[in-house]
Amino acid sequence: MTESEPRNCFTEMTQVVLEGAREVLNSDEMTALFESAGVRLPDETGPISAPGNDIQRLAKALETRYGPLGSRGTAVRIGRASFQGVMQVFGSEDGFEDEEYRMLPVRKRARAGLEKLAAIFECACGIHVAVTTEPEAWLWTLADCETCHDPRVETAVSHFMLGLLREYLAWSSGGKVFQVEEIACRADGDPNCVLRVLRLPLD
Ligand SMILES: [Zn+2]
Repeated sequence: MTESEPRNCFTEMTQVVLEGAREVLNSDEMTALFESAGVRLPDETGPISAPGNDIQRLAKALETRYGPLGSRGTAVRIGRASFQGVMQVFGSEDGFEDEEYRMLPVRKRARAGLEKLAAIFECACGIHVAVTTEPEAWLWTLADCETCHDPRVETAVSHFMLGLLREYLAWSSGGKVFQVEEIACRADGDPNCVLRVLRLPLD
């Protein structure tokens, strides 16, 4: 047990994702997206409130505006753009700056970081992610996602994670490119969304 107050991971994560979205979408597009979702766009300094319903509305608006493929691509880009924010907000507390982590060999470090990111999503979003190892790949399974009942939300979440994992792996390996792809999706009737990360970089 720690004595510190429980952190409101959700609010912090919402802030990080909004900043990532602002990097990817211009401000007119942000305004239009929030308007078509019927959700108030928080200003850059104001408090954030984004309960589950707002996230569902935004995920639906994303798909309506960009289509199934465009919305996935946008979610991937927002995931990439959010990685640095995730590190700034959660990185030190979750051990990304610990000597023990930094001194691990490249692949052990990559794997250990996936566990750390999974812990961040558990805290921030109530999404339970299972990280498992196969001979050639790591699997990132969205095992239990409260906010993901709507397949459009789950698709947005899993593609956001896909972009974030790509950026994380590039960061953790000094710029190498790793293949990360979704190999199963609840939106297609699979029991869970599963991302597969090949353990060897492409280059
Ligand atoms: Zn999926």
